[in-house]
Amino acid sequence: VAEDDAWVEGQSLISTVEDVELIDPDLSGERLLYRLFHERGVRVFSPLALQAKCSCSRDAVSAMLKSFAPQDRAEMVKDGKVVVTCEFCSSVYQFTPQEAGAEDGAAP
Ligand SMILES: [Zn+2]
Repeated sequence: VAEDDAWVEGQSLISTVEDVELIDPDLSGERLLYRLFHERGVRVFSPLALQAKCSCSRDAVSAMLKSFAPQDRAEMVKDGKVVVTCEFCSSVYQFTPQEAGAEDGAAP
């Protein structure tokens, strides 16, 4: 698949930037962008603050646990508890087997 011409052009222009230009205090990012891409037109948007935020919650994890089959929940019990780590934000949620809807493996 041939790369888009604009992308190739952008890459080739970016590759002309010298390291010293990137740390030049007299050369703002806006000026550098204009220097590189003025022929295509440069639009700089206002910066937006970013915030690391995950939508996970103890309630959501609990609801997810309850969607598993009872046997799967029982297999998640380790050392008398169920520990779930969010893969996105690394938050750790701990539940008792009862809270997780899993018996301790000692079901009759
Ligand atoms: Zn999370």
